[in-house]
Amino acid sequence: MSKTKSNSTRAVQVGSVTIGGGAPVSIQSMTNTPTHDVEATLAQVRRLADAGCELVRVSVPRRRDTSALSEIVAGSPVPIIADVHFQHQRALEAIEAGAAKIRLNPGNIKDPKHVARVLDACRERRVPIRIGVNEGSVVERHDKTLRQAEQDALAGDYRKHLVDLMMDYLEGYVRLFESHSFENIVLAAKSNDARLAIDAYEALAKRFDYPLHLGVTHAGPPETGRIRSIAALAALLAQGIGDTLRISYAADPVLEVLDAKELLWSLRLRERTEPELIACPTCARLEVDLLPLVQQVRERLSAIRVPIKVAVMGCVVNGPGEADDADVALCAGKGRADIYVAGQKRRTVPESDMLTALLEECKIVADSRTQGP
Ligand code: SF4
Repeated sequence: MSKTKSNSTRAVQVGSVTIGGGAPVSIQSMTNTPTHDVEATLAQVRRLADAGCELVRVSVPRRRDTSALSEIVAGSPVPIIADVHFQHQRALEAIEAGAAKIRLNPGNIKDPKHVARVLDACRERRVPIRIGVNEGSVVERHDKTLRQAEQDALAGDYRKHLVDLMMDYLEGYVRLFESHSFENIVLAAKSNDARLAIDAYEALAKRFDYPLHLGVTHAGPPETGRIRSIAALAALLAQGIGDTLRISYAADPVLEVLDAKELLWSLRLRERTEPELIACPTCARLEVDLLPLVQQVRERLSAIRVPIKVAVMGCVVNGPGEADDADVALCAGKGRADIYVAGQKRRTVPESDMLTALLEECKIVADSRTQGP
């Protein structure tokens, strides 16, 4: 996974992972186990890492969570980020425990002396901080202003007003950190509104050269949150905006990682490391029960950790042409299937053998790729 980004932000080092500075866009997720339950949290961290997650964030609301952190950091295959909300003491404990990065909303830590202590501790340990502002917290604090803004919305300027507020907050925090000579910063400006997220991150990219953590917050269940998230993140990533990302669903966080991987692969921002499956959308020319076959192929291909392109097509009329660029293609119809390898027909098998035959050819191609020429 070695591709680099076209735009350039400052580089921030989070353990072994570089964010920004042209480094490949990295994938983050967050655990939802009680952090103090070391066994459960580490099990989830490992599942996330196995799925392709490169940075894992854990929240540390209580002392017992930061007490568990050093064991989690030691057992984790990827850098651990501590998510701190209100108590600066939790940030100090997390830094002491070896967190590779802190996520902080400085507006929630009221005493400037407490912010200064966190910055000193981070500087000493070279721990970066993500300053995260989201639409929700801005709305809360500017309730009165927003009532006026809602009126302005009738003139169509409401979204711009929210973006300006988020930028003003971030500007204030960034200048505060810089006044302490602290520039080891990643920025985020999240919203659950895809259009607002796009506007906010575009404004951030224009104003700062700190690396950006992309996300659509509280996106909902995967069935709808997927569209909401990808609409915003793809629009930004395609412009070269964004250095690391977290997709957030109300679901198993492993799903966030799988979708983030597919997004980066689809935009060619990371090199694919697993098989790519394409399939015909089906139509009245369909000559086989295709949908269960596609799911079977998808499940069986997951065992092959090589980036081959596989096509499953439902007829022999358009199938071969549509699957022309696939490494291995199956075109089924009339009780049999033609198997193509690199665009050339390799064999014809009865429908009952087509899944096995397709997987055999996939394995041959995958093995040839791993063994080299
Ligand atoms: S490959 Fe054949 S069955 Fe599938 S959508 Fe195209 S024409 Fe229809």
